[in-house]
Amino acid sequence: MGNRGCLLIVGLGPGAAATLTPQARESIGRSGVVIGYEGYFAWVADLVAGKECIALPLTQEVERARLAVARAGGGDSVCVISSGDAGIYGMASLVLEILESDHPVDGPEVAVIPGISAVNACAALLGAPLAHDFAVISLSDLLTPWELIERRLLAAAGADFVVALLNPKSGRRAWQFPRARDLLLHYLPPQTPAGLVRNAYRPGQSVDMTTLGRMADSPVDMLTTVIVGNSRTRLLGHWLVTPRGYRLDPEGAGP
Ligand code: SAH
Repeated sequence: MGNRGCLLIVGLGPGAAATLTPQARESIGRSGVVIGYEGYFAWVADLVAGKECIALPLTQEVERARLAVARAGGGDSVCVISSGDAGIYGMASLVLEILESDHPVDGPEVAVIPGISAVNACAALLGAPLAHDFAVISLSDLLTPWELIERRLLAAAGADFVVALLNPKSGRRAWQFPRARDLLLHYLPPQTPAGLVRNAYRPGQSVDMTTLGRMADSPVDMLTTVIVGNSRTRLLGHWLVTPRGYRLDPEGAGP
């Protein structure tokens, strides 16, 4: 009785065990209850053996968060697992919102444990496309009005940000990705380099270089991250690179 609970919101990285940070590993290890989307438990099977595992389907984010807050408020040590980084389109904001509104009597100790996001994992597989200012935009209009997504796409391209697109396409959302391409084309030429990474650090990983003009001809889905360069991004060999602006030529010796 009277034990103060603990609530850890942990990012698992993009998939492979090697991309799980030691801090995330340790956080799961010291929790008694692990709550998450059912698909993630296979990734951490060795770490959750013998623990109480509560797996809920993809649409039940609010239920997962409420349960986590309730259990931690009751004195349990709870870990909520989320893919990539839990604070980037993940469970962290929702859990903190519910924590604020539900006011568990004996407030648990809370921490958000960072993870490698699909954004930087996919960038690394492409080379160094995010070496300068960039914007991350999700094309999912499930929770965000499409008008706002369009405004952000135009603003990011207009300000010459590199743009990483998450949730580019799902079974029910097919027109958003070509529409996003058309909006970026308002400011960027069609030959602007773009990279598509599917299943980063998971079985079936694929990395493809394309261009803004052609990117919507490639198959993309909910397991794909798309990175569109800015006006300076170049394809160097098979690497996508956004130069930071260092001068590499000896003065006066440039082409
Ligand atoms: N919290 C997660 C992002 C969740 S949004 C993170 O930080 O990584 C889900 C989107 O992320 C997917 O639709 C896809 O665009 C991208 N994504 C997640 N995992 C990925 C992976 N292994 N490879 C490529 N893209 C991925």
